[in-house]
Amino acid sequence: LSRLSPQQYSERIRRISRELGFDYCGFARAEALEEESAKLDEWLGRGYQGSMSYLERNRDLRTDPRALVPGARSVISLLYNYKPAADLAGNGSYKVAKYAYGEDYHRVLRGLLKTLLQRIREEIGEVEGRGFVDSAPVMERQWAARGGLGWIGKNTLLLNRNLGSYFFIAELITDLELEYDGPIRDYCGTCTRCLDACPTEAFPQPGVLDASRCISYFTIELREAIPDGFEGRFDDWIFGCDICQDVCPWNRFARPHAQPRFEPKEALVVMSKKDWEELGDVTFRNYFGSSALMRTGLTGLKRNIAHVKKRPAEGGPDT
Ligand code: SF4
Ligand code: SF4
Repeated sequence: LSRLSPQQYSERIRRISRELGFDYCGFARAEALEEESAKLDEWLGRGYQGSMSYLERNRDLRTDPRALVPGARSVISLLYNYKPAADLAGNGSYKVAKYAYGEDYHRVLRGLLKTLLQRIREEIGEVEGRGFVDSAPVMERQWAARGGLGWIGKNTLLLNRNLGSYFFIAELITDLELEYDGPIRDYCGTCTRCLDACPTEAFPQPGVLDASRCISYFTIELREAIPDGFEGRFDDWIFGCDICQDVCPWNRFARPHAQPRFEPKEALVVMSKKDWEELGDVTFRNYFGSSALMRTGLTGLKRNIAHVKKRPAEGGPDT
């Protein structure tokens, strides 16, 4: 290792992360997430995870990053802006969450994390580390909040005063001792826009998401049929849902990303509802083969389209 202070290591890593295009980088000590894990257990106990049983697994790994990466001392959290220059949700077609407009973020960010670790090794020395993107055992928002990158809003997402919430979170868990950033305060104030705007009433209380009622869960995670009572409530969303972010004042002034790989797929920009309904498997793959839409595949999207087109049952929804 080069002989630098933890503060100097932190500064170097922050600089490298910026050079790689990450918008923010924050550091937290790798230790047990006691309070956060207790909250998660309570959430699971209420069944808010729906059919996402993978969230119930790996409890020990999730509680303590040292169980995930032996010898871990620090959790480096990184934010990468994905806010598109244009919101396609207003173009009259079926709606897709902004994070899925371009190339699959897992690919993009995994590559960047790998480069980040390489660069750290070149500049600092023999550092062990493991990168995570959207990985169940890592409580990403909680780590990013501990690293001072934002606060967890009433919509349960991490909010950053400059970026809003349209960003990806990635972690690099490492054995390097760093200088740590503390959590910051909550800037939601008295606002309740996200809670009020959710069309499926998925927030039983501020800061708690019943994922089993969320459009994002229904359209992407749920393998079975979408349950009765949610007809007419999806507002044309067929892959994810951005409503509780679109209404958030912190997203109003966020600037667009500068990553060419996150530019929207051309097909997404031009396809009408009719085009979606008539889309065949081969064309779908040609258009979206490298995108996160492959997660549900065309079959999943067609199921979602069929749901979106259903009219509410007589007497309205069941709530
Ligand atoms: S993503 Fe949509 S459905 Fe889910 S909580 Fe937010 S507004 Fe509600
Ligand atoms: S909409 Fe308002 S309450 Fe919801 S996350 Fe944004 S600032 Fe917080």
